[in-house]
Amino acid sequence: MKYIIIGLGSFGASLAEKLTAQGNEVIGIDINMQKVEAFKEKISHTICLDATDEHTVNGLPLKDTDIVIVAIGENQGTNVMVSALLKNLKVKKLISRAVNNLHENVLNAIGVDEIVHPEQESAERWAKKLCMHGVVDSFELNDYFSIVEVKLPRKYENKTVEDVQFRERYNLLVLTTLKNAQVDTNIGNTKTIVDVQSVATPSLVLEKGDILVLYGNNKDINRFIKSA
Ligand code: ADP
Repeated sequence: MKYIIIGLGSFGASLAEKLTAQGNEVIGIDINMQKVEAFKEKISHTICLDATDEHTVNGLPLKDTDIVIVAIGENQGTNVMVSALLKNLKVKKLISRAVNNLHENVLNAIGVDEIVHPEQESAERWAKKLCMHGVVDSFELNDYFSIVEVKLPRKYENKTVEDVQFRERYNLLVLTTLKNAQVDTNIGNTKTIVDVQSVATPSLVLEKGDILVLYGNNKDINRFIKSA
């Protein structure tokens, strides 16, 4: 896939780096030459330009690009201007970053295809991590259902998925386990997953240090965590 990411702040730059690492062709754009220099090794292509300049933006390979992401956050005015400009230029798919509700309403009115809220999404994940003891990471599907990564409770070590009866006792589905995972749940620290297994089977043996990837209702996930 081909991406253009506008604004190499912390969100835009890490998104561009990750998409590049996954084998996509990414053009990272920033008005600040220092940002462009800082990321030129990590992003497929980097260009220094002012994305509010229609003439310059028109010169980008927009027709060959699958997704354009406006990742400018702090300056909402610039974000809105750049989003409107790209909408006018009829890019295939336009994703914009919103920092608050009013900003989101404006982006919706412009007609962007999708809106991302990195601050809100990461706050939700952190809230879960802090409130649910043992939760390493989480992904909210909606207000009720989530996929969470939870440290294997000690009492389930050396038991199989079938023994624990996740479905019957907790109404939860084990999607997989992450083996040999090195996890540090302190704020700010990241985790390194060494070995991801395929889809969990009833006979899968749960071992010390495993991370369970569970799917279910938030209430049931909480019940499981509290019972541990
Ligand atoms: P974060 O919160 O993810 O760090 P910021 O909103 O602070 O994001 O960063 C936005 C980035 O967008 C900055 O690197 C800034 O230089 C860049 N930027 C701001 N205005 C423009 C523009 N007109 N054209 C291109 N890049 C811009």
